Amino acid sequence: MSLRLYDTMARKKRPFVPHDPRRVTMYVCGPTVYNYSHVGNFRPVVVFDVLFRLLRRLYGDDAVLYAANVTDVDDKINAKAAEEGVEISVITERYLAAYNADAAALGALPPTAQPRATQTMDAITAMIGRLVQNGAAYAAEGHVLFNTQAFGDYGKLSGRPLDEMIAGARVDVAPYKQNPADFVLWKPSKPGEPEWPSPWGPGRPGWHIECSAMIEQELGLPIDIHGGGIDLVFPHHENELAQGMCDHKADGGHPESYANYWLHNGFLNMADEKMSKSLGNVTLAHDLLEQHPGEVIRWALLAAHYRQPLAWTEDALGQARNALDHLYGVLGRARHIDAGGSAQLAEDQLSSLLDDLNTPSAMYALKKLATDLDAAVRRDAPNAAALKQDLMALAEVMGFLQADPQVWFQGGADEGLKVRIDELVTARDSARAAKDWGEADRIRAELTALNVEVMDGPAGATWRIKEQA
Ligand SMILES: [Zn+2]
Repeated sequence: MSLRLYDTMARKKRPFVPHDPRRVTMYVCGPTVYNYSHVGNFRPVVVFDVLFRLLRRLYGDDAVLYAANVTDVDDKINAKAAEEGVEISVITERYLAAYNADAAALGALPPTAQPRATQTMDAITAMIGRLVQNGAAYAAEGHVLFNTQAFGDYGKLSGRPLDEMIAGARVDVAPYKQNPADFVLWKPSKPGEPEWPSPWGPGRPGWHIECSAMIEQELGLPIDIHGGGIDLVFPHHENELAQGMCDHKADGGHPESYANYWLHNGFLNMADEKMSKSLGNVTLAHDLLEQHPGEVIRWALLAAHYRQPLAWTEDALGQARNALDHLYGVLGRARHIDAGGSAQLAEDQLSSLLDDLNTPSAMYALKKLATDLDAAVRRDAPNAAALKQDLMALAEVMGFLQADPQVWFQGGADEGLKVRIDELVTARDSARAAKDWGEADRIRAELTALNVEVMDGPAGATWRIKEQA
């Protein structure tokens, strides 16, 4: 079975065939760094991280180039910098660091490239220059605008015909626009705002051109996969596509396409009364990570198929915690089983992910493997090692179960408490070995008072801090 992906442009699943299997390219639109990001903004981060991991497994770790941009020029950044009386770089460095730390806490591998708008200005102005030269863009009143009439397929990605867009355009269209749907490639900065030099006067780029220039600079056209949230299809990706396709007209290097596969993840739906009541306004991943392990949030973010809307509820987080507790519990009981070196994952274990990244189905497969492994450990069956190997390999492609089971369950305890608990668990083991059941029960009661649950297994007792009620 080979990888199939749902392509927004084709509106169907298509077999994934990279341009060059030794150089598979993926670009995903990243954050505007002016604040902590909403947890919904991390849905594409973990979804495309699973795809990145899957592509690495299929084509090799070094064969996949994954660029995710950072928008560090923006009105909201300017406003925040003005509010704090600092340079925009103070704001963007602070929130980019937080974003990357949160993404790492959610188990996302770093992309192979993380280009920033401020570091791509030469490529941006060069691309705008080419578009002006070949008639796809025009300068007017300090602005440069993309001429949507220049691209015959404008509207094809989002399924919005251009004439309908023009008919539906509001009356207060900027006077310098030739067509109401034309969009900004370059604009003058307001007084006091950061600006960069250009042939059309000092200013800054529009948002759409930033991504097209970065794709050109980091990956080259055409790329294999372009990803992002469903809200980016129009206008952002439609405009990126128009720019990318109209670029290179003059030099004869016109690419046959911009991106071979367009992937979009669905919305994260916060409309859950129970959640909003109990957690107040905890919608930032940064805050959620103070209350839940990153892996729990990652599990909840992948619990629905990426194209479906995801209902973000407290129950979903609780279910994620239970599922991971179960899996880590199985791994703890199987910790004496040597799963061997690098795992050879059977292809049928990957079938769910190969079918347009069906993560709910792959999670079911993880649970099934864990149940089988648990039974095999209990029976001391010879296939336990193979089952553990499959479980760990599938978990790795999904970015799960990378922690030590002991650390998973004891992560919430401080060092002093851990030492005390370890002493009690050892004393209880000795009491049980001496068949002093009264003493064993007394110690268990003491552990219960510390909110510790002891789990007896074939390799001795393990313990965990129980969830707070
Ligand atoms: Zn973009």
